[in-house]
Amino acid sequence: MPERIDRKSRHEISLIRSAAKINAEAHLAVQAAIKPGISTLELDEIAEAHIRKAGGVPAFKGLYGFPATLCVSVNEEVVHGIPRSDKILQEGDVVSVDCGTIYKGLYSDSAVTWPVGSVKPEILKLLAATEEALMAGISKMLPGNPLDEISGAIEDVCLKYGYGLVRNYGGHGVGKKPHEAPFIHNFRTGEAGPTLEEGNVLAIEPMFNLGGDDVYTAEDEWTVLTKDHLPSAHFEHTVVVVKGEPEILTLLK
Ligand code: MG
Ligand code: MG
Repeated sequence: MPERIDRKSRHEISLIRSAAKINAEAHLAVQAAIKPGISTLELDEIAEAHIRKAGGVPAFKGLYGFPATLCVSVNEEVVHGIPRSDKILQEGDVVSVDCGTIYKGLYSDSAVTWPVGSVKPEILKLLAATEEALMAGISKMLPGNPLDEISGAIEDVCLKYGYGLVRNYGGHGVGKKPHEAPFIHNFRTGEAGPTLEEGNVLAIEPMFNLGGDDVYTAEDEWTVLTKDHLPSAHFEHTVVVVKGEPEILTLLK
């Protein structure tokens, strides 16, 4: 039998909910600042200031040695981009912003890919499809469902549009730690995996590429890029399994 996924208590979920609210508000503050000419480091400073002002702590800063509050990944950068003062957003870019927050010791994790000014329609479609896959995966977060249904729903959306699928990275449990078991593949594994139960908290995070599946890690040992240098998109929410429809804790309102 596969291992059960940790079930958070009501109190723990309420703290994750607070962490997630701070996270979503930080994303909105960053979104408001995104425009051609701003650096990815400036976006990072906006997020950190917002999180600390709201009583939270940036979860990524120092995590495995990562130096910043946000992972900011532009165009062909898939994930784990390090914010830099000399990385300036340009009209037509897409920028993936990944944010982790801690509130009273509990964690949330969320990512969005934003367009910068006017972006080519084919790239906007990639963003929409990746977000569609996120929501399709989340819709399977029902008590009694096997974990692999989430993975399958994400893969199906990718196949429908014919995008590249990033296979080396995926979703995960979250809450008491930034990354908890289980790892959640963004494609069917053929194994049902653990059965979802009320109180499971998962970060679901599809990454789709305009071109092929393959990615590599840059010399900075953090930034993950597409091998063909075509753009990539990344969307993520922290979600709790409840009796009915799953509750998306990091929803941007
Ligand atoms: Mg994340
Ligand atoms: Mg994550």
